[in-house]
Amino acid sequence: MNTVPTKTWLKPILKPLRPAFREVVVISLFVNLLALALPVFILQVYDRVVFYQGISTLFGLVTGVLIAIAFDFVLRQARSRVLQRAAVRIDARLGESVFDKLMSLPLQVLETRASNHWHILFRDVDTVRNVCSGSTAVLAVDLPFVVIYLIIIFVIAAPIAWVILVAIPCFIFLALRSGRVMEGATGAEREAGISRDALIAELLAGRATIKALALAKTFKPQWEENHVGTIDRAMTRGSKGDGYTNLAHGFSVLTTVALTTFGALAIVDQQITIGALIATNMLGNRMIGPFNQLVGAWRFFAQYKQTVARIGQLFGLESERLVSEIKLDRPKGELTLEDITYGYDPNRPPVINGVRLTIKPGGVVGIVGPNGCGKTTLLKIMQGLYKPIECRVLLDNADITQFTREEIAGWIGYVPQECVLFRGTIRENIALAEPECSDEQLVRASTLAGVHNYVVDLPDGYATDVGEGGLRLSGGERQRIAIARSLVRDPPVLLFDEVGSNLDQRALAALREALLQLAPTHTIVLVSHVPVLLTACQHVVVVDHGKIRFAGPSRDVVPRLFAGAKPNQQAATPASTDGSGMPAKTADAEGGATASTPAQQLKEKA
Ligand code: ADP
Repeated sequence: MNTVPTKTWLKPILKPLRPAFREVVVISLFVNLLALALPVFILQVYDRVVFYQGISTLFGLVTGVLIAIAFDFVLRQARSRVLQRAAVRIDARLGESVFDKLMSLPLQVLETRASNHWHILFRDVDTVRNVCSGSTAVLAVDLPFVVIYLIIIFVIAAPIAWVILVAIPCFIFLALRSGRVMEGATGAEREAGISRDALIAELLAGRATIKALALAKTFKPQWEENHVGTIDRAMTRGSKGDGYTNLAHGFSVLTTVALTTFGALAIVDQQITIGALIATNMLGNRMIGPFNQLVGAWRFFAQYKQTVARIGQLFGLESERLVSEIKLDRPKGELTLEDITYGYDPNRPPVINGVRLTIKPGGVVGIVGPNGCGKTTLLKIMQGLYKPIECRVLLDNADITQFTREEIAGWIGYVPQECVLFRGTIRENIALAEPECSDEQLVRASTLAGVHNYVVDLPDGYATDVGEGGLRLSGGERQRIAIARSLVRDPPVLLFDEVGSNLDQRALAALREALLQLAPTHTIVLVSHVPVLLTACQHVVVVDHGKIRFAGPSRDVVPRLFAGAKPNQQAATPASTDGSGMPAKTADAEGGATASTPAQQLKEKA
């Protein structure tokens, strides 16, 4: 997979923050200098005040150290504020970039991964923010300042400074080693967490089915397996991590013991004073502290590395077109499929295989065929949601790949089989694509969809809350609201996928009327097996195994479909434009010639 380097996506986000980071470095310099106040205070108290009973010196020292403490507090507060501001900017800009990129991916790319895979990218944004502007960033800035402490140790207790010089490489080695080990363990823990979360999300989305079929026991082993996997990996990571953290702790105690032991010998030799030893111990601890933290923090750096790779991969994916090649006024609505072939899996036969079809503007065209024959796929190809492997889809003779998703969605309305509503009111759901639409537009769309009378009858009317995913509405109500949603922008082309499946007889009759009303000015493609809706079609295309088996005027095709009779040769023969709106060409005339079988198969399977 193509991974975009960080300089392309992260650098532009971090670059404007350089002044803020510079500010953090300067503040950190002073914070680290002020941290010297305490060891200096202790050194002076032991060497000057205690030995020489210099009480006035003690007051001076206490005053000095109190001022240092106050400054330290102010500086740390300032550093936190700068980092918080940086975090907000990273979050806002990176979050927005990831969101925009995700939304710009073609549907066929989005469908190659489970939704959780995409969901997790937003957690990755949190990781980048935490590492670039959280405690790990402070640690990274503080680390170089240990040099100051080393210099001071050399100044006040040179004979024992070598202990620190030996200890630091040990800590660096430990941190690097733990980072390498943690990288694998952290990745495995994350994967296990993702798979457990995906299962929970799926179970919650299907909660009605789980309850109705009492599937709790069925899914329990799966959940347990996932849960145990997550715990197992967390424990592996924890035990590996804890091992290194405890080792680092042991090392730091050992360093203190070594410093004190060699310091005591140096005092006996009168090479250093007691005050110098105590101050050196304090400075040593301050030096070792960041390295000690580094052993634990490496886990975040390892996560950060993986995160950056994942976001890089996201940015490496090809987006849909964001700027159109030509400007097209409202199209008339002629749709042409030029020998389209499409497959989901390159190792399996194509789902759509050489479909040639021209749908003239105006009129209703029905598409029928057995389950899984490729009708939905065909509708998605018609509106550019899937890009055919071969050949093109034309709208008014213009290749639709040259238009943006937004333009196509404005010209081609679509009602999918599964009508998804979003949290909010009925009005918000109908006007999703055009939030600023007028009440007239809204009422017109709702009336055509046969939902207006139902909505105005509700206590809250169009302000009725549909609940999460439209759960508070029935399937038929959801479907009619989805139809209204597709009509609100009044697109010249309308694609309806099994829109009658949840509608009662009255609603079906109303929808049929609406189709007839829209037909003269709109190109409507209707996937349906509902006879009453098929009677609204001027032409019907019969699809089987991803090919057009036969096509023709509905008065010829529909009776045969439902009577199981053999379609006549005329319907099976590739037809040229008949001028009445539906020139259908069969891609596989031989299949149509023996079409009593497909027609019967269709009836049986449908
Ligand atoms: P229809 O609408 O005629 O019932 P579809 O177009 O939905 O059929 O599906 C055609 C074939 O493509 C089916 O065999 C189905 O299993 C397969 N298919 C549909 N969607 C996907 C997908 N997202 N990934 C892989 N295969 C799919």
